[in-house]
Amino acid sequence: MVLGGVVPGVVSLFVLAAPLSGGGRPDDRAVAGAAAGAAAVSGAAAGRGAESAAGVVAVAGAAVEPRRVTGNAVRREQASPTGGPAHRCEVSRGRSGETIIAGRLLLGAAGAERGAMLVAGGRIAAVGEPAALRGSAPEAAVIDCGSAYVSPGLVNAHEHPNVSGGFPDPGMRPVYTHREQWQGLAGDEHYPLEYTRTEAPVQQFWIELRHLLAGTTTLGGSGAVAGLLKNASWRDDPAYVYRADMQTFPYGTASEAFSGLTCPYDGPAPVEPRSSPRFPPDAPYTPHIAEGTDCTAALEGRFYLDHVAANPGRRYTLIHGVGLDPASIERLGDLDVTLVWSPRSNLALYGETVDVPDARRAGARVAIGSDWSYSGSYNLLEELRCAEGVDGALWDDRLSARDLWEMATRHGAYALGIEDRTGRLAPGLAADLVVFRNRSDDPYADLAASTPADVIATFVDGGLVSGRTDAFEPASLPEACANRIGDHFLCVDYAGYPFDHEELLRANASAVPLFSTDRQASCGIFE
Ligand SMILES: [Zn+2]
Repeated sequence: MVLGGVVPGVVSLFVLAAPLSGGGRPDDRAVAGAAAGAAAVSGAAAGRGAESAAGVVAVAGAAVEPRRVTGNAVRREQASPTGGPAHRCEVSRGRSGETIIAGRLLLGAAGAERGAMLVAGGRIAAVGEPAALRGSAPEAAVIDCGSAYVSPGLVNAHEHPNVSGGFPDPGMRPVYTHREQWQGLAGDEHYPLEYTRTEAPVQQFWIELRHLLAGTTTLGGSGAVAGLLKNASWRDDPAYVYRADMQTFPYGTASEAFSGLTCPYDGPAPVEPRSSPRFPPDAPYTPHIAEGTDCTAALEGRFYLDHVAANPGRRYTLIHGVGLDPASIERLGDLDVTLVWSPRSNLALYGETVDVPDARRAGARVAIGSDWSYSGSYNLLEELRCAEGVDGALWDDRLSARDLWEMATRHGAYALGIEDRTGRLAPGLAADLVVFRNRSDDPYADLAASTPADVIATFVDGGLVSGRTDAFEPASLPEACANRIGDHFLCVDYAGYPFDHEELLRANASAVPLFSTDRQASCGIFE
């Protein structure tokens, strides 16, 4: 089943057949289509629905407390030498409210050395030798994951949690030359994709959980629930910890906005890109640009970079960039525009992707994002695997596994304007962490080969949120971690949500699953 299995009340999204709100959120595919092509308003689909907003307000702050690991007895079990978990995390209680988290830390060097972080108030207070930190904070709780790797939590710089619960349309082929074609905005000769919105909190929680269990601790994109991982998008919604303007398609139906122009074109832009209302002019700006391979896509890139050059003073990101022409790629570095790469979605829809090594040569930062479930990766680890395959097949392995890790951590944070808040293991930054299985001395290659089964634990703002059940002594975990999903536990207090654990599982029985990627879109010939 492709559609209809998600949750009752969700609007089936056939952009042409069911034009949606022009007055709701301006930053998703449906609304962009409606704003450009129709004026009809559907109350049920007008942006974040009342049900969703109420849910978010109700849970704000409620799920912070259960993240702390406190007050449980210490007991250590040895890992089984035959088939047991590769690593175990030893937990000991503390009295000061601080936590020491130890493992092999990914600090950006070639490898990863055994070390620890002292976490206080959700932030990394110090990085150092485990024994030295224990000496300096003797009353801190300790979570020691031995030789497991500890990375900054992954930053997925591009996802659409409000449109990411369903499976790819089985009719999808990489035949498009501009996103307007699959959106149904470019005429009947193009096959429009079907997709379903995921606005209900119980759906968005599931989508965020899918990413969390794969090591993502910050998501950029519209749609959020409070208290699980951290979201960057609309500043007026308390579910978004970080603010960024996800004005998805700032040129609307770009082919109409640029009507009459042909490539090459050297004249001025006929229109300016739109910003979301109520955003301060210095908030990070993260639109989809040049999502396609045709002249319209190239013009979007040209005009967007002209806009950036004329309006300095904010963080600029460019999502996709498939159709950027060589001259535009040359400008990315000088203009400090971070390219957000979504190779699986690009290949599934357009059969091409942006030349990432060329963008890097031109000085551009490159981040990475999964896009949505309908053409992109189900989680960021899958996206890294796709990226690695593309790099090997097209670019002769010019991207290292460490390059990919940087895209998925500090460059993702930079894309969202939060590089001084998260994305690295450094004092002063949030203790957003992913602990994953150590299989070799190359932590970056290990990460790129990881699946959620290799993710041993995730921490958000210093609090344990999820982990592998067999990596922890159950008695060492707080009560809130009693929720089980597969081989993982989830530390969440459902009291703040309009659903409980059982209802979460029931409501998402037909959604993209948390672990299986069987029905994920193809990364082309590069899988
Ligand atoms: Zn997207």
